Amino acid sequence: MSNPTPLPRVDSYIDGRSVPPAGGQYSEKIDPRTGTRIKAVAQGQAEDLVRAAAAAAAAQVAWRDMRPSERGRILVELGRVIRANGELLGRIESQETGKPAGHMPALIDLVAQFFEFYGGIVNVGDGELINQGPGYHVYTRRDPFGVIGVILPWNAPLHQAARAIAPALAAGNGVVAKPSEYTPGSLVELARLAVEEAGLPAGLFNVVLGRGQVIGPAMVAHPAIQKISLTGSGRAGQELGRLAADRFLPLTLELGGKSANIVFDDADLEAAVAGSVRAFTWNSGQWCAAGTRLLVQRDIHDAFVRKLVARVAELKVGPEDDATSGPITTRAQYEKIQTYFDIAIAEGLTCAIGGKVLSGVRYGNGWYVAPTVYTGVSNDDALAREEIFGPVVVIPFDDEANAVRIANDSEFGLAAGIWSRDVGRVHRVAARLDAGRIVVNEYGGGFVQTPCGGFRSSGYGREQGIEALGHYSQTKSVIVRL
Ligand code: NAD
Repeated sequence: MSNPTPLPRVDSYIDGRSVPPAGGQYSEKIDPRTGTRIKAVAQGQAEDLVRAAAAAAAAQVAWRDMRPSERGRILVELGRVIRANGELLGRIESQETGKPAGHMPALIDLVAQFFEFYGGIVNVGDGELINQGPGYHVYTRRDPFGVIGVILPWNAPLHQAARAIAPALAAGNGVVAKPSEYTPGSLVELARLAVEEAGLPAGLFNVVLGRGQVIGPAMVAHPAIQKISLTGSGRAGQELGRLAADRFLPLTLELGGKSANIVFDDADLEAAVAGSVRAFTWNSGQWCAAGTRLLVQRDIHDAFVRKLVARVAELKVGPEDDATSGPITTRAQYEKIQTYFDIAIAEGLTCAIGGKVLSGVRYGNGWYVAPTVYTGVSNDDALAREEIFGPVVVIPFDDEANAVRIANDSEFGLAAGIWSRDVGRVHRVAARLDAGRIVVNEYGGGFVQTPCGGFRSSGYGREQGIEALGHYSQTKSVIVRL
């Protein structure tokens, strides 16, 4: 029997070049659309992290001391390079995540925007003059941390990478990023483009591949790494946080959610139905801010659910480039969603549509799940309390106070939606909801310029917006007696 053709390898990118893993171990990457092996992904070790952190620390000194406008110019240039190579980056991301190819141009535009935005605001929030009278000259300045560790999940790899890496670099730091074991390729390519085409100094932006439980502790242990940003599950946030506490290492934690999407009876119903469907089906529900607790005012509940189900039935889930959503990205996640289908049956929930995996010739061995709506759900049910990255539950409510109470009765606080034509109500409810992002009369991901982060166990710190620059630098007061 002949040996199977070796799989193409994805290696770490350290100090401006591709580096095979210490120990030589690789794991297989499976295509979620077909269930076939497509790549061998490096399983890096602590030694790889040490090498990357040393490279970043060495490159960071000159980057820190560069004129900020020059740093900004290089980041804006990286935005241009991302756009010019959007087809390549999008192809890798689409293949590894299973996202429809038709979604890629908007994603690439967003990723480029992060570098353009932060490249344009490198001097914003530099510091302030604090007047203490003629005997003093007192001011603050914001200094970079040094090297930032960035740990990333698989559900939106390039987007989450760009939103952390762009402000970290803009603030004058070096970066060592660790993508998910399942979706490493697009970030490795981004780092290569940054160094080889956009002119970022070699060593400043490194990508180390490997398991979180191996690379995470190595990041915490490395003295050059002075801050870590993790986007991922609460479990990973807790494990990292416990280790980081020993070194007083600051973290930004972007964790999970179970966001409430509240539809009042005075809403534009057609818009609310369309937006609510998008809220839980975008990216097959694999979205931290997904609106998966759909709270509908009781007097419109039945009509709303009918329209919702009709709209869900029109969605095109499949491998096609123009599908509304593709497969689930990992087998573990695909299996996890199925356990919730079983729980729903055991708890006697009413499944209005979906509740099953999709099989047949069109789906092959791919990991496809039907968009799913459960009704008659209480906010105490497991499906309403736990992050699933899958179906939506519909919960009726009676009045504004009741809606706010149910929405806030959650361990999480990442995002929330409000649908209403009453401007007073919109602002009252927005003020009372415990969530880091409130979206009114649409359900989207916000903008590059709007801060993003969680209340409660959805995490702390903020990515995006001008505020993120503050999270990647630290304030120093300078008090000069004249
Ligand atoms: P995950 O926590 O399993 O993995 C995320 C990353 O953390 C991976 O790179 C993984 O290797 C690493 N990791 C795992 N254990 C670690 C440890 N002990 N120390 C250091 N790193 C460790 O999450 P996932 O399944 O890849 O992603 C899904 C989760 O991410 C969901 O909970 C989702 O809500 C969350 N998420 C949050 C946001 C946000 O902006 N708040 C955005 C996207 C995803």
